[in-house]
Amino acid sequence: MKTIRNPEELQRQCMQWEREGHRIGLVPTMGYFHEGHLSLMDACRGQCDKLVVSLFVNPTQFGPGEDLDSYPRDEARDARLAHEHGTDVLFCPEPGGMYHEDHGTWIEVPEMARGLCGASRPIHFRGVCTVVNKLFMLARPAVAVFGQKDWQQLAIIRRMVRDLHIPVQIVGHPIVREADGLALSSRNVYLTDEERAVAPNIHKTLAEAADLVASGERDAGAVKRFITDRLAETVPMGRIDYAELVDPDNLAPLERISGPALAAVAMFMSKARLIDNYLIGV
Ligand code: AMP
Repeated sequence: MKTIRNPEELQRQCMQWEREGHRIGLVPTMGYFHEGHLSLMDACRGQCDKLVVSLFVNPTQFGPGEDLDSYPRDEARDARLAHEHGTDVLFCPEPGGMYHEDHGTWIEVPEMARGLCGASRPIHFRGVCTVVNKLFMLARPAVAVFGQKDWQQLAIIRRMVRDLHIPVQIVGHPIVREADGLALSSRNVYLTDEERAVAPNIHKTLAEAADLVASGERDAGAVKRFITDRLAETVPMGRIDYAELVDPDNLAPLERISGPALAAVAMFMSKARLIDNYLIGV
């Protein structure tokens, strides 16, 4: 496995692979790998013959006061794990290599970025779309794998790729969870013991909400109330950022549940902000 820090070097390498007829796969990450990241690499490895994993804590997707500076980092461990999971190139650029001081080009999908996480993180998805687009230009992947844990991100990237005719296949990968149901996240290291103990109730509550729909409830407001009441009870130290039922594709809020619905939640804990979601089929 080669580690590349220079964006132009990555582009040269990938253009050469392209000329040689290789199918390139890309897994964009911010590092501090857990089984979720590794399962994305394994899935991508199976669909390409050159695997590029990017490790970049992208400054433009963090708002003021967010955890850009304290975001957990361990490049040596990440490099070992990426290597073990079949990565050909680990791309670890410096922020200054990715963004000129006068960087002024942005990609956004505003309609889909207003709700859910976008409401409390207004510049987040603009930063995500811009950096993912840059990574597509540099790594030239035929396939890129993203986790369903960040469902809004995945839906927005699918829309960006469709709208801009970007020649890449986007694959969504299921959420990898701890045995007790907590969705794996690099930010779980921020949880206190007390918070960690009750955090699985987020997934449990969403699964119960799906049961409620399965038993005939079709009023999205009633399902949302169920989720917020249950979370207030079972995760008492958390503060709900949002609990929503949305269309899984365009993320529009639902009033009635008449087809597939995504139940999505974000909760502020003392230091962490946890997100989770559950696809409810009708
Ligand atoms: P991050 O490093 O948090 O930006 O995540 C990099 C990629 O890993 C994104 O596509 C995430 O959706 C995905 N990911 C993060 N956590 C999980 C998880 N628990 N299960 C599946 N994918 C995940």
